Amino acid sequence: MNSDPAPESPAAFGPSDDGLQRLWTPHRMVYIGGQDKPADGTTQQCPFCRIPAGDDEQGLVVARGERCYVVLNLYPYNSGHMMVLPYRHVSDYTDLTDAETVELAQMTQQAMRVSRAVHSPAGFNLGINQGEVAGAGIAAHLHQHVVPRWLGDANFLPVVGQTKALPELLADTRRRLADAWKTAGGREEN
Ligand SMILES: [Zn+2]
Repeated sequence: MNSDPAPESPAAFGPSDDGLQRLWTPHRMVYIGGQDKPADGTTQQCPFCRIPAGDDEQGLVVARGERCYVVLNLYPYNSGHMMVLPYRHVSDYTDLTDAETVELAQMTQQAMRVSRAVHSPAGFNLGINQGEVAGAGIAAHLHQHVVPRWLGDANFLPVVGQTKALPELLADTRRRLADAWKTAGGREEN
């Protein structure tokens, strides 16, 4: 047996150590586990600074604004788990400019509208974990979680988490949300 996990095995993506624990601890909505964690808090090490430089499909980018963008969480707590974040590498909510604060809020609202149109969730968890002690996976770059919730969703999560179709689901989810964002919002056409 090859020591590398097969391409379609659940072990081939995501950190294996904290897999289910991550799904079962909503207060720790970490973006990235220990293995992929940046070595330090600099811009060079920061995936949230790198993602916008690439293409949307590769980076799972749902929408781009002027000062903020929306990206799917690579290790979702729930299906359609998005994050809204500034392009600028800042860690604290109070570091945002007024314009960034407004756009972060507006894109969070739009993420909820789009999520409702695509996935019809019954509710949401919205939130920013400030600092590693508070559960931020990448504390150096502020990100607001938008997590759709369904009644009883905690029961199917482990099943979804173990399925080999997860990478396809993420790509498919990104496309559906990105398409809905363009048609539902209309802000880009303004
Ligand atoms: Zn960054």
